[in-house]
This record gives sequence, C-alpha cells and structure tokens, in this order.
Amino acid sequence: MKVVILLGPPGIGKGTVGNILSKKWNAPLISMGDLLRENVKNATSVGLKAEVFMKKGELVPDDIVFEALAGRIKQKDAENGVLMDGFPRNINQAHMLENILNDNDEIVLLNLVASNETLTERLSLRRICIRCGAVYHLKNIPPKKDGLCDICGGELIQRNDDKPEVIARRLEVFRKETEPLIKYYAGKHKMVKISAEGTPEDIIRRIEELGLWG
Ligand code: AMP
Repeated sequence: MKVVILLGPPGIGKGTVGNILSKKWNAPLISMGDLLRENVKNATSVGLKAEVFMKKGELVPDDIVFEALAGRIKQKDAENGVLMDGFPRNINQAHMLENILNDNDEIVLLNLVASNETLTERLSLRRICIRCGAVYHLKNIPPKKDGLCDICGGELIQRNDDKPEVIARRLEVFRKETEPLIKYYAGKHKMVKISAEGTPEDIIRRIEELGLWG
C-alpha cells in the first residue's frame, strides 16, 4: 500500500490538489479536517470534543483525532493506497501512522511550499459548500453561480477558522507543530518539495512530472 502524505501549511491547497489526484490515481483522499468537520456537523462524541479546539485554530488532541481516523485507512477502497490531507500533523501522529501500517507499505511525502502572502490570500478567499464540503476560491476557483456550489447547489460559506485572527493562529501552530515533521521524515521516507504557487493545474503538473503513481 502506498500512502501519499500532503504536507504543507493551511491554505496551501492540500484539499484541492488532493481531490484532483484522488480521481487521477483512483485512491481515496482522507482529509482529517473534513472528517472532523463532519463529526462536528453530526454532533458525534468526537465532534463535540473536537469543536472547541478547531474554533480556536488549535490542534485537536491526538487521541480524539485517532478515534476519528481509526478504521478509515483499513477500509476496502484504501487497499492499494491513500492520499492523506492534514494527517499526521505532529511527530506523535507520525508514530501512530507508522504503527498502523505494515513494513512493506510505502510512505511518500509531498512537501508543498508557498509564500505567506499566497497562504493568507488563499485562506481568506476560500469558501466551502455547507452541504458537500467542495472547496472554492473567490478569484481562482469561483463557483459558476455566486454563493452556490457547482456540484450540489449547496450554500457556500466561509469556514469559522478562515477568519483573520484564527488564520494567524493556525499558521503559527503549523510552524510549531507540523514543520518539525519535515525534519523527522527527511531521509526516512521519500520526500519531494513542490512549489504550490500558481493554479491547481500548475501544481498538479509539477507533481505528475515526478511519476509517483502507477
Ligand atoms: P484543516 O481542514 O486541515 O485546516 O483542519 C482544520 C482544523 O481541524 C485544524 O485547525 C485542527 O483544529 C483540526 N485538525 C485537522 N487535522 C488534525 C490533526 N491531524 N490533528 C489535530 N487536529 C487536526
């Protein structure tokens, strides 16, 4: 099984790029943020515990995250491989992932990088569908009809944590908690640095040139 981890700060486009790659590579995208938001929306026990942290832009404690993830990676559609967005986010979670994989499973890291201006712009112009979670960008990926999802017609909203004060905290948490993962993984697994500037198509082209899948 191949596990492709999309690593990079909030707003870099992990979800957008991950969704496109998921279709091209016929492998499910496991988005930890989406999984948690779904739990919050359905007021599950995981959701109720996670919500307070998410609102503030803090990481949800590892045991809660793991409860949400448990089982997902073992499902049938993940047999040949998965793309991961937003997990692992710290070294402890990297250990958790290694513990649920087998020795011959392969981990590949796509380390996405972009300037702070690009990230802040992407986060503040991001809108998501309240119904199906599809992601838009008011300038780069606008919906066909203002305020409505192209896919399901649901209402487009701004995520609570895409407000300026929470954005700043999330970027800070990334630098402190998640960036050390790059050092942890370097030399241990295959890791490639990819510029995430430009359009989703630009980023996909850079990734496909690497011939990682198939
Ligand atoms: P994202 O959609 O990836 O930006 O995640 C939104 C929020 O969900 C984060 O700010 C965290 O509060 C929470 N979250 C997502 N993934 C994780 C994770 N692996 N560990 C802890 N918290 C997470």
